[in-house]
Amino acid sequence: MTDKRTIFWFRQDLRLSDNPGLLEAARNGTVLPIYISDDASAAEFKMGGASKWWLHHSLNSLNESLDGKLNIYKGSAKDVLQTLIKTNTIHAVYWNRCFEPSRIRDDTEIKAELTKLDIECKSFNGSLLWEPWEVLKKDNTYYKVFTPFYRNGCLSAKPPRIPLPKPENIKCIKDDKSQSIHDLNLLPTIPWDKKMEPYWEIGEDAAHKKLHTFLENGLQDYKECRNYPSKPNTSRLSPHLHFGEISPNQAWHAAQHYGHAHGVENDLDCFLSELGWREFSYYLLYHFPDLPVKNFQSKFDHFPWQFDANLLKAWQHGQTGYPIVDAGMRELWQTGYMHNRVRMIVASFLIKNLGIHWHYGEDWFWDCLVDADLASNSASWQWVAGSGADAAPYFRIFNPILQGEKFDPDGTYTRHFVPELKNIPNKYLFSPWKAPEHALKASGVVLGTTYPKPIVNLEQSRDRALQAYQACRNI
Ligand SMILES: Cc1cc2nc3c(=O)[nH]c(=O)nc-3n(C[C@H](O)[C@H](O)[C@H](O)COP(=O)(O)OP(=O)(O)OC[C@H]3O[C@@H](n4cnc5c(N)ncnc54)[C@H](O)[C@@H]3O)c2cc1C
Repeated sequence: MTDKRTIFWFRQDLRLSDNPGLLEAARNGTVLPIYISDDASAAEFKMGGASKWWLHHSLNSLNESLDGKLNIYKGSAKDVLQTLIKTNTIHAVYWNRCFEPSRIRDDTEIKAELTKLDIECKSFNGSLLWEPWEVLKKDNTYYKVFTPFYRNGCLSAKPPRIPLPKPENIKCIKDDKSQSIHDLNLLPTIPWDKKMEPYWEIGEDAAHKKLHTFLENGLQDYKECRNYPSKPNTSRLSPHLHFGEISPNQAWHAAQHYGHAHGVENDLDCFLSELGWREFSYYLLYHFPDLPVKNFQSKFDHFPWQFDANLLKAWQHGQTGYPIVDAGMRELWQTGYMHNRVRMIVASFLIKNLGIHWHYGEDWFWDCLVDADLASNSASWQWVAGSGADAAPYFRIFNPILQGEKFDPDGTYTRHFVPELKNIPNKYLFSPWKAPEHALKASGVVLGTTYPKPIVNLEQSRDRALQAYQACRNI
């Protein structure tokens, strides 16, 4: 084997196993493993606070796995790569593909520039089960509806790759010009991250541990119980998948193996289809790169949104007076995560009951979620808004009282995040303003003082939303 010096550029694939680009780089000879922080290029979608916090710890974990040989740089990726190529006598640059529009634009430019310099440039599929251009309809256009995309397109295409092994004995270069992870200033100056720490273990090993805990405790009954935020039936793999500490292929094949062995086919099918929704989000972003900023269905461009800074603030801070909404928004603030069912409830409340544009919700989630993901976040906000591809119809408006009663029937989740209501009887937990005075008093609740009164009337706001929708439909 000739010793070729290859840069392996880590991005959203912070792992050693099932990493096709890294494996190939290691097979070539010596590897310069690098991470570049290039905020300017991501422009308005530069990483939010919670994601930065995660990234800091994830890079530390990766650096440990590489025996301290991860090299860190800041600045324009193109400039950094060109300098490294000169100073380290590099022959090739490899990376796994990302699908954010700014990444696609930069990667294309970098590939063209480096090829001119006679540097071998190769990119690989490290983060999707099926790449967006592989799955098309018979007429060569892209799918806009999930079920045919997933069932006819993906499942009838080539099955997802069997996970690749970790490269053995990688020969890594440590560049003495590398900055430290600390120099990236990813941690907040005010230590709000301390409250999130107990909820997460970060890094490749932790991601696999999480997957196995989920398979043992959560896959069985996933189909039904994944809707209940206090049950252990969701994997919480989303931040690990976003940062690529684990690949979707690893999750897919491990789940298949476990699911078949334990005869839980329906639950397995449902879990795999959720990984399919992640694929669909990336697929939509690839084929409609304006997804984070423009309505997929242009009829929503005329929607008469309202804006009220006080209502937005109450929603952000979990002070709406609707306990399941407040529980979700506080879960987000405290842990950097929110259960999927509750994400749908709080998003519907913001868009439909408060009448506020989905962009404001998208932005808040972008800053607060540890799994903030351009594809999944924008596709999901548009799904709830009704403006997306294959979206929930606009007139489907979640009722936060009924949703709370149905999906948190004993109130475990809501009481945990809204402790000022912990003593209120179940009957009134999701609508405390309906409780008689003596019940409130016995529970230590003073509405408007210890817990807010509802900031909006559900029925009136629902009617207003439906009228606004009719108006924009008729334009
Ligand atoms: C308004 C809104 C915003 C969202 N923003 C994000 C986001 O920024 N990042 C993100 O990863 N997910 C987002 N989601 C999707 C979903 O809520 C999360 O992926 C899920 O809650 C993660 O929890 P989990 O890992 O336990 O999921 P599980 O139920 O265990 O599912 C396994 C994996 O499948 C994928 N997945 C599941 N549901 C969806 C979905 N509806 N869309 C796309 N992928 C899905 C995730 O990668 C997830 O880790 C959003 C949903 C809504 C309604």
